[in-house]
Parts: sequence; C-alpha cells; structure tokens
Amino acid sequence: MVKEHKCTLCGRSERDVQLFAGEHGFVCVECIEQAHGILKELGLSAEGGAAAGRKGRAALADKRALESLPKPNEMKAYLDQYVIGQDEAKKHLIVAVYNHYKRLAQYQVKGGKKQQADDVEIEKSNVIMVGTTGTGKTLMARTIAKLLSVPFCIVDATVFTQAGYVGEDVESILSRLLQAADGDVEKAQKGIVFIDEIDKIARKNDNPSITRDVSGEGVQQSLLKLLEGSLVNVPPQGGRKHPEQKFIQVDTHDILFICGGAFDGIEKKIAQRMNTHVVGYNSVSQQFRVDPNDLLQYIEPSDLKSFGLIPEIIGRLPVLTALRPLDREALMSILTEPKNAITKQYVRLLEMDGIKLTFTQDALDFIVDKAVQYKLGARGLRGITENIMTDVMFEAPEGKVKELVIDKAFAEAHYTDLRFGA
Ligand code: ADP
Repeated sequence: MVKEHKCTLCGRSERDVQLFAGEHGFVCVECIEQAHGILKELGLSAEGGAAAGRKGRAALADKRALESLPKPNEMKAYLDQYVIGQDEAKKHLIVAVYNHYKRLAQYQVKGGKKQQADDVEIEKSNVIMVGTTGTGKTLMARTIAKLLSVPFCIVDATVFTQAGYVGEDVESILSRLLQAADGDVEKAQKGIVFIDEIDKIARKNDNPSITRDVSGEGVQQSLLKLLEGSLVNVPPQGGRKHPEQKFIQVDTHDILFICGGAFDGIEKKIAQRMNTHVVGYNSVSQQFRVDPNDLLQYIEPSDLKSFGLIPEIIGRLPVLTALRPLDREALMSILTEPKNAITKQYVRLLEMDGIKLTFTQDALDFIVDKAVQYKLGARGLRGITENIMTDVMFEAPEGKVKELVIDKAFAEAHYTDLRFGA
C-alpha cells in the first residue's frame, strides 16, 4: 500500500490539498499562503531564513502581548480590590502603564533592531507619585505589576550615592530587578522599578556648585541615565562594581520607572507659586477655590524643581500625580475592605486554629483613631492591630476558645502605647 502524505502543519492529506515536499516532510499550499500572509501583515520578508523566523515569533509574541494587555477599566477594577480611594492617582498610573506596555507591544522587529511599527515614536511615560507616607504609593505600583505579571522591585533612593562614594551604585537597582526576573534579562527589561523616597535625593541648596552634594544632585545625575534609557552594565550580584566582575548588560529603554516620595514641605512651594499666579491674574478670572488644606492636588512639575529635583529628572518623569491624605473613612475602609485587609488576614489566621474571630465596630474605630493620632497613614493600621492581637495570637493555638470577639474594651486593654513611643 502506498503511504499517504500529509501536510506537517495542518495534517491535511495530499488528496485534499497540493503538497510541497521538503527534506523532512510536506507542507500544503494553504499553509504556505497563510504563513506568507502573516509575514506580510508583520512587515517581514521570508528572506533571512531562521532570523526572519525568530523575528516573526518575537513580533507575534508582541502582538499577543497587546491582545492580552488588560484594558484601563480592567486595571482599575483590579486595583480597586486592593487600593482604597486615590482614584485620580490610579487613573494617571493606569494610563501611563497601559501606554507603556502598548508601546512595547507595538514594536516590530526590523533588520534585527527593535523599532516601532510606524514612525510615530511613543515616548516612555515614567511616573512620579507624590504623597505622604502610607497613602498607597508602593501598594499601587506593586499591585499593578502583579496584575501584569512583570518583574517588580522596590528600591530606596536614599541608599544610593554618586559613583566613587561609599554606598550603592544606582546600577544595583537593575541587579534587583534581574533577581525579581529570576535572572531572565529579557523579562527584566520589561519590568517595573519603584524608586521610593525620591524626594530624599533632592538638592539641598539652591546653588548646585557651592558644595559637593554627594547624596543629592550626583545621584540624580546617575539615575537620569537609567530613566532615559540606556545600556547599563550590571553587576549580577548587586552591590558595588568590582574590576574582575563579569557584567550583565541591561537595556533600560523599556523598563517602567515609578518614583514615589512624600516631599515634605512642598506645599509651601506650591502655595508660593499659586500666590504669584493669583497676583498676576485678574482676580475675576480666578474662579476656582483653592483648598489650603490639600495643596498637593495642585502640584506641578515646577514645584518639584523648587523642591530640588533637577529639570532633567523631572523631564524624564512626565506623569506627575498626587495621592490624597487618607481620612478616617478611608482608613476604616482600608482596615476592613481590601481583599487582603488586615482584619480579614487575622480572621483567616485564627480560622486556621479553629477560632471564629470578629471585630466590633467600636474596636475598629479605636484602631482608626490611633492611626489618625500617630499620623502614619494606613501604615499605622497594621502596627496597631498587631499590637492588640499579639496576646491572642500567642494563646490561640492552645485551643481553649472557639470564638473571640474583639471589642473596644479588649482593644484598649491589650494595646500598649509604648511601641509607638507615645
Ligand atoms: P507609601 O505611600 O508610603 O508607599 P504604602 O503603599 O507602602 O505607602 O502603604 C503602606 C501600607 O498601608 C500598605 O501595605 C497597605 O496595607 C496600606 N495602604 C496604604 N494606602 C492604602 C490604600 N489607599 N488602600 C489600601 N491600603 C493602603
């Protein structure tokens, strides 16, 4: 019996389609046409053999990445599960992140070099978030990275010093990102870096040349090259560069940088600027009322400059957004509502010991009042709750109780102010 030949790709028989024989099998006319269509659509030619194949796969992967990228409203719905309020900042962050990954997805590989599909160059939109401590800056960045399943790392700007001084080089940021990507350079190059306390590397005085500003302007300069996109030699183990060390080259063009800082005292700069504006304008045209208790919402890039960030850095952080201070109501929501709310975590922990735990409303009020008192934002909620719950968590595994209600009297009795130095 004569063996029937089939297309290696679609499996159709030579009885149904015309087949072309290759060294290791057959391919049908229709599969050839389809493959040609894909190459055409992606602007690739079949010339170049294996290289074209590789490029085609990469471009296809990018195309798929665009399709699988969550839409802004989906990102918002996801963020809302973890981050309370901050709608304005969420919107800015989401648009920046969405545009960033759209920009990556619309890349096309041409001539071995990454270019964008058409001639419009979409610039990277690194983000800077300004807001007092514990308002959700880090949480927001971390949550969005989790949604996108991209490598994410948090670095503290205060540990960096200008090259040649004691401290970490800014390149170590990329070592951490590489670690978060399990050493996969390609993956790391599409990751997100959160640089915390960016305000701490602001220039301390207005005149840049008076003193050598080891931890200020010099660090900003070295950060600049990461932010704007460059090829950086990264010591694989992190830490400082070492002459005999082998470097890994990381391209930062496609890494999204999100910076955060409290910028304590920037309200004064904002007020100053707004006052000068008011003087300059016809007062009739000044229709909108300024809320003097929440000046941060009016922040502009020029205020960051007045605070001591160099213009080049500000230029590389085009998306500027402010986080609102968390009021009592927001703190209460944070304590009870997010998917991983602190109170929910305790309920789950005790459930594992067979105990049904509930918090009464007045106990929750007590925790929120303390957090307001210590001005720690949402950051304080965890510490205060932990403080109240320590004895319970210590004794629970003994199995003496099956149900536990935390009310205000219990909270007061088990709370020790000492921990917060009050
Ligand atoms: P920062 O603004 O200083 O970066 P974080 O994002 O690290 O603050 O917040 C500290 C903790 O406080 C978070 O881990 C989270 O539990 C809680 N938190 C802060 N802001 C919010 C918020 N808006 N919604 C929910 N939880 C929040």
